[in-house]
Amino acid sequence: MPHTTGVRPEMVSRVIPVDPFDLVIFGGTGDLARRKILPGLFRRFRSGQMPEGAHVIGAARSDMDDAAYRDMVREAIGEHGGSEAKDSKALEHFLEHVRYVAVDARGNTGWDALKEVLREDEGLVRAFYFSVGPGLFAELAEGLRRHGLADAETRIVVEKPFGHDLESARALNEELARHFHETQIYRIDHYLGKETVQNLMAVRFGNMLFEPLWNSQYVDHIQITVAETVGVGGRGSYYDKSGAMRDMVQNHLMQLLCLIAMEPPARFEPDAVRDEKLKVIRALDPVDPDSIVRGQYTSDGTVNSYREDAENPLSKTESFIALKTYISNWRWANTPFYLRTGKRLSARASEIAVVFKDAPHSIFGIDAGRHSNVLSIRLQPNEGMTLGVTIKEPGPGGMRLVDVPLDMTFADALGPEAEEVPDAYERLIMDVIRGNQTLFMRGDEVEAAWAWTDPLIEGWQRRGDSPKPYDAGSSGPDDAAFLINRDGRRWRGVRQ
Ligand code: NAD
Repeated sequence: MPHTTGVRPEMVSRVIPVDPFDLVIFGGTGDLARRKILPGLFRRFRSGQMPEGAHVIGAARSDMDDAAYRDMVREAIGEHGGSEAKDSKALEHFLEHVRYVAVDARGNTGWDALKEVLREDEGLVRAFYFSVGPGLFAELAEGLRRHGLADAETRIVVEKPFGHDLESARALNEELARHFHETQIYRIDHYLGKETVQNLMAVRFGNMLFEPLWNSQYVDHIQITVAETVGVGGRGSYYDKSGAMRDMVQNHLMQLLCLIAMEPPARFEPDAVRDEKLKVIRALDPVDPDSIVRGQYTSDGTVNSYREDAENPLSKTESFIALKTYISNWRWANTPFYLRTGKRLSARASEIAVVFKDAPHSIFGIDAGRHSNVLSIRLQPNEGMTLGVTIKEPGPGGMRLVDVPLDMTFADALGPEAEEVPDAYERLIMDVIRGNQTLFMRGDEVEAAWAWTDPLIEGWQRRGDSPKPYDAGSSGPDDAAFLINRDGRRWRGVRQ
């Protein structure tokens, strides 16, 4: 039987180039393109994964020529491309693959010019990244068809937010479906592109150790935390119409919950995985009003309050939410899932914690202490996993138990190459070119997520609930602690 005795560096850094492609970034001058998409493409180019035959075409409203756009891209990569951006030879080489066309998504200008720069070569992948405001998604899809830029092989990448509620998500799905088949639509949730998220699946389904215990019989509860230190800042007026539930829970936290809770798919293939995720969402219970805590940050004297950031002195939008939910199926019946996310918290940290039940009986007596195993899956910072196991405290003086971490931080285990794993956007864009939809949300998943979210939002709106104030830099409102403490449990510390 084949087996691996260790991880060799070449196993980590092996890169297979993708097919040649034309990738058009609508919104190619915007914040997301400058911070994530373009630096990500540059890193993939430098690694050898983006081939020589690839073209990146920025498209936005501003009038500029290729040279001016390349200057902008050079600057963006210099600022956001990390240490690799210092490789100026590679950067200049990458820029030779970059072009720009001014296109107005709302009008007719620029489409013909865009058509001219796109190549018709056999086997060339054509993809359009909609990195523009959500109000333009449907128009862009329609424009691509009307101007003859898309055929049955063309792919579109759609950013978040995908709808504002079930009705708008359904309408957007219908609009897109008029022009593109579901297999051509890549709805992005960058949490799914994170290395640890995929590793979660490798750990769950590649080992015999965890899966037998992965159920309500052995798992006491699961916590999913996405804590941010930033406020809503410049996005205040947009965020105020959305709130933490729509901005984070309906998509990112829900996706993490699905991957933690889903049944093993028969294969690691797009529809097999997405079918299982959909079953989880459909099995989610409605949440009791007393199992939801919403919060809004107040000023600590050094930063604005939420209401100041949102420029809405009467805002009832939440910048923090904690909730407890259950999944009504055989595997998870009666196992609470505690979710929380918020802005202006004490640390930037995202973690999924699987907290196992206590051993049923301690043979060491009460004085030795009792500990439950926790599998902690960290998404940021320092992505990795830690399994807390109980051992004997070293030294004389009897049997005292202590928790030690079995650390699976990739960089430690796999060497420095593991630190160069692609970031989420890089990986996902390469998946688009490869035609692999496994890590993208299917239309019915998004709708099911809204179908669960909408009644919760309608509930607090109907009751006229106001979010609880919490201090900027704290761990959220006190009621969020009460939500879990009343069940005899505690939130795990939010640490950097
Ligand atoms: P942005 O406002 O910085 O950029 C918008 C881009 O769209 C600009 O390039 C602008 O020129 C272009 N644009 C606007 N109207 C146009 C039109 N009529 N025709 C052609 N181009 C037009 O926005 P952003 O922050 O880059 O966000 C883009 C999308 O990505 C949004 O849907 C946003 O919700 C999503 N997103 C952004 C981030 C982020 O970190 N910025 C994170 C997640 C998702």
